[in-house]
Amino acid sequence: MGKKAVAIANLDVEQLIQMLNEALAEEWLAYYQYWIGARLLEGPMRSEIEPELLLHATEELGHAVLVVDRIIQLGGTPILNPNKWIEYAKCAYEEPIDPYVEEILKQNLEGERCAIQRYQDITAFTEGKDYATNQMAKTILNDEIEHEHDIEDFLVDLNRLREDIKKIRL
Ligand code: FE
Ligand code: FE
Ligand code: MG
Repeated sequence: MGKKAVAIANLDVEQLIQMLNEALAEEWLAYYQYWIGARLLEGPMRSEIEPELLLHATEELGHAVLVVDRIIQLGGTPILNPNKWIEYAKCAYEEPIDPYVEEILKQNLEGERCAIQRYQDITAFTEGKDYATNQMAKTILNDEIEHEHDIEDFLVDLNRLREDIKKIRL
């Protein structure tokens, strides 16, 4: 535990560690949501969407690394048991029961919107008070915004495809 690292954080460190542990649980669940969804995926544009979802999965794990390192720097204990992931996470894990590409993408989209809110909140909580966590949260926030945009683009393209097929039938 870095004493100075904690001392300079001009906020409720316990509350921050709690938020970071919730974020850590969310990252692991987001990782699995993407990872399993990419493997089940069926439907148009599968060959383009699958690698992007796997890339996002890897990026979520990268976020987990940043978050866990910060928890430890702050003298906190990261979640030690995966049983706690669901309990801590505020973002829902949705079982990909329907493997249709649009359904998988919509589940991931919900996750990204929740993640954006999570890092917006951590950024706001640490703004001007804990520069290290603040910078980390902003870095992850930018990734989550990019993820949301990627998924929205896929959904737009799938819709265009559907509209084009309708025109052909006329
Ligand atoms: Fe993430
Ligand atoms: Fe993400
Ligand atoms: Mg991407």
